[in-house]
Amino acid sequence: MDYKKILKEHTFKTWSKQKGWEPIIVTQARGVYFYDNNGKRYLDFSSQFVNVNLGYGNEKVINAIKEQLETLQYINPSFGAEIRAKAAEALLQVMPKTISKFFFSTSGTEANEAAVKISRFYKKPSYKILARYRSYHGSTEASISLTGDYRRWFVEPNTMNGVVRIPEPYCFRCPLKLKYPDCNIACANYVDYIIKQEKNVAAVIVEPITGTNGVIVPPKEYMPLLRQIAKENDILFIADEVMTGWGRTGEWFAVNIWGIEPDILTTAKGASASYVPIGITGVSKEIGEFFEDNIFAHGHTFEAHPVSLAAIPAVIEEYKRLNLLSHVKAMGEYLGKRLNDLKDRHISVGDIRGVGLFWAIELIKDSKKTPFGDYEDKYNGKLTLVDILAKKLLEKGVYVYNGPSWFIISPPLIINKEEIDQGVDAIEEVLKDADKEFL
Ligand code: PLP
Repeated sequence: MDYKKILKEHTFKTWSKQKGWEPIIVTQARGVYFYDNNGKRYLDFSSQFVNVNLGYGNEKVINAIKEQLETLQYINPSFGAEIRAKAAEALLQVMPKTISKFFFSTSGTEANEAAVKISRFYKKPSYKILARYRSYHGSTEASISLTGDYRRWFVEPNTMNGVVRIPEPYCFRCPLKLKYPDCNIACANYVDYIIKQEKNVAAVIVEPITGTNGVIVPPKEYMPLLRQIAKENDILFIADEVMTGWGRTGEWFAVNIWGIEPDILTTAKGASASYVPIGITGVSKEIGEFFEDNIFAHGHTFEAHPVSLAAIPAVIEEYKRLNLLSHVKAMGEYLGKRLNDLKDRHISVGDIRGVGLFWAIELIKDSKKTPFGDYEDKYNGKLTLVDILAKKLLEKGVYVYNGPSWFIISPPLIINKEEIDQGVDAIEEVLKDADKEFL
């Protein structure tokens, strides 16, 4: 069978033109490596899209899923499958204390769609949702409208109304042209002004650490301040932990870094370590109680799918058994040190930032911090230098997820030092090409 031909002609390539797509045909995977149909091995240095948190081939998770498949593979969500109670109970052990009720879907996108609807039902007649420019929240109507990055341009002007943009805490390129710490966290303080001017604001949604838009770690004061502003203005605080949750930062959830508690927490990816599709919208007790007498007019056939739910308790067990939170902290320190060393040796490395096993290398092409490309390039289907370097890395057997001018380094949480060295050494090789382009 000509797999490549069929894939190209009869399946969709998403987010970029179909023409010119030359997919690598992947046939198997184990640990932190995956293999193509020629037997070539690739180190997964980004956990795909920052989601294969436990690596590949975890027997315990696979067996839990198999067992569920063999006992009850489906029941519609108006029934109460035992596994749904088990999943909720397991989640209560690891989620922030405020979160007490869960809606289960099949993706991060759906988790955020539900969060928007819940916020609007709960805060009616308020309906506006604050979201940042540098953000990605998913691909369907509400979540792509919340998304501030270039991907929303594809659907404009047909985006959902009621989205109001707020600035992001991107100190390397401050949108307010200020400098930390003299800025007094103006990007958060300004949100208070926006809420008061806009009125009818139901919620603010943020990725606690911005993910696809370049692993933007906020200064330590930002998240507690934003949380406080939301509380004082009586709007809901939604933490989109689709990417940052599940040990990625060395904590169960990134909000734990600052000790803040959201009203709504959305997650997906690491919740099943990507063995099966899952999306979770967790809400506070107060919001949960509101729906005792108010209909949550929402749902899917595949909502609370037993096979997806089976992964949740198994994955949580594995995070604990493998002691992954401390492992991530230790490996994160090592990875961070190795990446920061690159900055000293390579003129094209503008910024290294991250926490745990979640890092970005942002490249620049001159001393004015000009990026090697931007969203406009992606939108027009043009490869940036970083896209080309990512391809080169693949040729070397290392997969790294990248943005127009940055790499995202987010390996499976089970990675060891030798595997980290393999990835960083390969990146160091291709950085030499970027240095040559530096003006
Ligand atoms: N929210 C964040 C922060 C994400 O990073 C993503 C995906 O990368 C999503 C939402 C959408 O999740 P999904 O691709 O599972 O729909």
